[in-house]
Amino acid sequence: MIYLDNNATTAVASEVRDAMLPFFAGEYFNPSSMYDAAKPVKHAVESARELIAGYLGASQSSELLFTSCATESINAAIFGAIRANPERRHLITTAVEHPAVLEIGKELQREGFEVSFIGVDRQGNLNLGEFVRELRSDTLLVAVMHANNETGVVFPIERLSRVVKETDPSILFLCDATQSMTKLPIRLDSHFRNIDMLAFSGHKFHAPKGVGGLFLRRGTRCRTFLIGGHQESGRRGGTENVPYIVGMAKAVERAAATHDDDINRMERLRNKLEAGIIQKIPNVEVNGLGAERMPNTLNIAVHYIEGEGILYQLSSLGICASSGSACTSGSLEPSHVLTAMGVPFTAKHGSVRFSLSRYTTEREIDFVIDSFPEIVARLRRMSPYWDQATNKPRQTKTAAIEMKFP
Ligand code: PLP
Repeated sequence: MIYLDNNATTAVASEVRDAMLPFFAGEYFNPSSMYDAAKPVKHAVESARELIAGYLGASQSSELLFTSCATESINAAIFGAIRANPERRHLITTAVEHPAVLEIGKELQREGFEVSFIGVDRQGNLNLGEFVRELRSDTLLVAVMHANNETGVVFPIERLSRVVKETDPSILFLCDATQSMTKLPIRLDSHFRNIDMLAFSGHKFHAPKGVGGLFLRRGTRCRTFLIGGHQESGRRGGTENVPYIVGMAKAVERAAATHDDDINRMERLRNKLEAGIIQKIPNVEVNGLGAERMPNTLNIAVHYIEGEGILYQLSSLGICASSGSACTSGSLEPSHVLTAMGVPFTAKHGSVRFSLSRYTTEREIDFVIDSFPEIVARLRRMSPYWDQATNKPRQTKTAAIEMKFP
């Protein structure tokens, strides 16, 4: 199997699994218990907190809360901020956020909040003018992702957060770093110093699914979201998931140790895949080309065929990738990210995302470069929009196609 869907989830690293095992066996105690046997368990949780907080440049480890995933962290940040600041009823986010943010925005609109969804250009870059214009005296919170999960496009978080704080230091800035954590530099004591809250999820960087983190800068006005016991200094009730927290810290430690090598390798292989596909297949384009992108992500638009068909064919060869459309959720709606970017109809339905990890090998990439052209050719042979004789798109106006498939 060739796994190129690492923006969806990653394999648990063997070092991570080994670090977790003792906490499934003898070290099973509740970290809040008072007896001596529980002390090493408590110590393991606090060491993990120190390691990850230090990696991010937090000024103290207590600024890091452990959660069950990025979705929980984002919910805790947004709803906690709303409850602590009820007088402000305006939020700013972007049109290309992950549903973990986007759906909260829509829900808040239904509840009577005003939410501005900032658009992007054809490359996926944020409309900075629109962003600045939307900052208002009643703006409570700005929630912007660091890197896009579909295209890999990176937003200028340092600049955006500086503009926000220069406009009004009391506006809170939440950064969704779920895709960028361990792949792009994040320092909360330097270029990310204007970030108040930062969310991430362990399973995107070789820790298991079911553990995440929320950085909450000291002094940030944010009420407790998950009310219960006094865990996490009373800011997130619920017994800590000790093995997974330990595993997530190990994954961060491992990523930090080999960061530059991993990133360079991933980027080289991603670029090779990109160049190979562009060279061998006509009428393809890279979504997000020209924008700053994550080193591991390639979102490629293949005009005139369906992404689901491509995925099916890839899967039959043992290659795992994703399509931009939300087909996994049972809908054939095209991706909201590609729609916001203005990707034409003939391409957004045929977009495929390959996302690499540090375990991706050159042989795997070569295999995809060799097999992908034949898959596309086969599907185009069946496409009513492709002319076999000329190996070019049929002379049909895109507008006419849009009319047939509204
Ligand atoms: N934010 C981004 C950018 C993501 O890519 C994801 C998951 O893909 C999430 C948030 C939600 O992460 P989780 O499902 O781990 O809660």
